[in-house]
Amino acid sequence: MKEHGEDRYGAIAQRLSVWYGEHGRDLPWRHTRDPYRIWVSEIILQQTRVAQAMGYYERFTERFPDAKRLAEASEDEVLKLWQGLGYYSRARHLHAAAALLCDRFGGHLPADYAAVRSMPGVGDYTAAAICSIAFGMPYAVVDGNVFRVLSRLFDCDEPIDTTAGRRFFAELAAALLPVTDPGRHNQAIMDFGALQCLPGRPDCPECPLNDLCLAFASGKVSDRPVRTMHTKIASRWFNYLQVVCDGNTWIHRRQKNDIWHGLYEFPMVETSDACDWLRLAGESRVEALFGGVVPQPVKVTEMPPHQLSHRVIRARFFRFELPEAPSGFERFLCVPVAELGNYAIPRLIERYLENS
Ligand code: SF4
Repeated sequence: MKEHGEDRYGAIAQRLSVWYGEHGRDLPWRHTRDPYRIWVSEIILQQTRVAQAMGYYERFTERFPDAKRLAEASEDEVLKLWQGLGYYSRARHLHAAAALLCDRFGGHLPADYAAVRSMPGVGDYTAAAICSIAFGMPYAVVDGNVFRVLSRLFDCDEPIDTTAGRRFFAELAAALLPVTDPGRHNQAIMDFGALQCLPGRPDCPECPLNDLCLAFASGKVSDRPVRTMHTKIASRWFNYLQVVCDGNTWIHRRQKNDIWHGLYEFPMVETSDACDWLRLAGESRVEALFGGVVPQPVKVTEMPPHQLSHRVIRARFFRFELPEAPSGFERFLCVPVAELGNYAIPRLIERYLENS
């Protein structure tokens, strides 16, 4: 892989290290070598911006300072602490992995890549980050930031969204990894991608690596990285039925094999497209919930599209104020409206409640 020369690899790694010393972000999880805290930070950082991650990291590690305390907590409490971060399977995986660590490793993360990689919620990237940062092991991280930086520094037209392309960049990242402090190098290249070699228009004339950057030399920065496929974003239509009766309302816990598993929501009828009340009221599922006599909602709230990674949720909330509970709602959980805040709910519903 080092066809570009050892010196060039060494020079890039060295320059990244100097840049990181001057510009690297001062983040709470960078003040520790505790593998548990590094693991938690890496899981929170999956799909989350650094600025948002910090508060969650502080609260999470304060409440659960080690794997034992996390394993002992209820899933509801873990999800509640995670509320608003999204991608709740991360929290469930952390919880499950904490129990596994207590069972098999005395509550400590092992300094063993294969064991770390086999933990729930830990993929190649996260395992490499944990092992290199916490244990100084020589595993290179590869994600969107790294693809972009490497494809530009080496002016590669290898697509980043194919199996062969990903393997190519993984090998390139591994070849660039210095023997001393690979964890610091991994953090340096990540920060460099996040702060300097930005996706849009990076400030190349001011970049301290511009004399080593082949895409800058060939004028191809904006053409790197190369992609071949486009992810199709599908829509789903959620119609929520919020019944309020004598200060109470009804919710239920979402089940497995779908988004927001384990979180609470109002009874919901999913439709294949946008559905106004007239049409929804005629649905047999809605009639069954209301025991045959479907009342008029007192308020209908249409939420802005709620973007998830591969889908958009289009939600409408129909609010009813009724003198007694509809018969079909008996299977749901009846809770005081004032206590809804005690339940872990998706950000979408939190937004609705904030504005209603
Ligand atoms: S010169 Fe531009 S494209 Fe090249 S590494 Fe620096 S910021 Fe990225």
